[in-house]
Amino acid sequence: MKRARNFNAGPAALPEEVLVRAEKEFLNINNSGMSVMELSHRSAIFESIHNQAIQGLKDLLYIPENYEVLLLQGGASLQFSMIPMNLLPADKHADYVLTGSWSEKALKEAEKVGETKIIASSKDGSYKFIPNVNDLSIDETAAYLHITSNNTIYGTQWTDFPSTQSVPLIADMSSDILSREIDVSKFGVIYAGAQKNLGPSGVTVVIIRKDLIQPNQTNLPSMLDYSIHAKSNSLYNTPPTMAIYLLSLVMEWVKKQGGVKAIEAMNSKKANLIYAAIDESEGFYIGHAETNSRSKMNITFNLPTKAAEKLFLQQASEFGFVGLAGHRSIGGCRASIYNAVPLAHCEELAAFMKNFKNSYEK
Ligand code: PLP
Repeated sequence: MKRARNFNAGPAALPEEVLVRAEKEFLNINNSGMSVMELSHRSAIFESIHNQAIQGLKDLLYIPENYEVLLLQGGASLQFSMIPMNLLPADKHADYVLTGSWSEKALKEAEKVGETKIIASSKDGSYKFIPNVNDLSIDETAAYLHITSNNTIYGTQWTDFPSTQSVPLIADMSSDILSREIDVSKFGVIYAGAQKNLGPSGVTVVIIRKDLIQPNQTNLPSMLDYSIHAKSNSLYNTPPTMAIYLLSLVMEWVKKQGGVKAIEAMNSKKANLIYAAIDESEGFYIGHAETNSRSKMNITFNLPTKAAEKLFLQQASEFGFVGLAGHRSIGGCRASIYNAVPLAHCEELAAFMKNFKNSYEK
């Protein structure tokens, strides 16, 4: 069976090795005579898988002791609400930087909870760039500052993060967590839906500094209260056991690749190949992101005409490439090249782009 050249934005490609192992263990996990989906979430076998997934994240991101790693449900979208519900008190406001549709959505949910301010935005510039960190006027009285570290739809990514003194920096890292080395201690909260770099959809990772977890918030529904999940090691209710199992396998796979440092080097290599195909096309492929804001995870570009774009996507699909159409909200093309997308697939795509340009212009 030929695996697809999968450039989906999420859910996205998973490492083949992980899928092969999951298939092998599917009917009989750990000699239990059961599939992982049939295990009790209170069983010793599942608890060990659950703890391995959490420990894997701690090891790979060098998460300091004063952080809690939570495995929740509801996707990154529920975090848009949980963040303000837990961290935005009535006498404070929260600051947001708008760099794309997901930050807009995060802001919209926070507005329902409390007072918010937009301290920077690239909306007027069609979200082609990330505002310069040195130009941000960070309000040290804010409850927190929220950013989206990688903008999946527009294909832009923060390289330097704002340095906040007393204001917790909160990052939606759904589409670039574990793709590059980061200093977790710079952040108050990092959250990410798993379905791009971490595993399948269904589990959401929240890395939160322990002092930000407030106990006894009687006004909060239990399921939306970080302290409840932290107290029960994310086993307050039935967790998405299959997704957590796959997360644990992906963590092992990343370790086998040499950890995040090695993954980051590979990601740069992959992204450079495709950006080179854009840059060397003499304007045939038009990258959406400004050069210094380019994402190494989602590469967005347009072709000279709608007809050329249609033909490109049609031929790409015939070739076996999947998921190259841009997000329905902005159109164009997008190649999502998360950790599990092999270098060979990026080489093939870059070569395809060059060949397509040459034959189209003949
Ligand atoms: N934030 C970012 C940056 C995303 O790319 C996405 C989904 O693609 C989301 C949030 C929404 O995630 P979920 O579908 O897990 O709620």
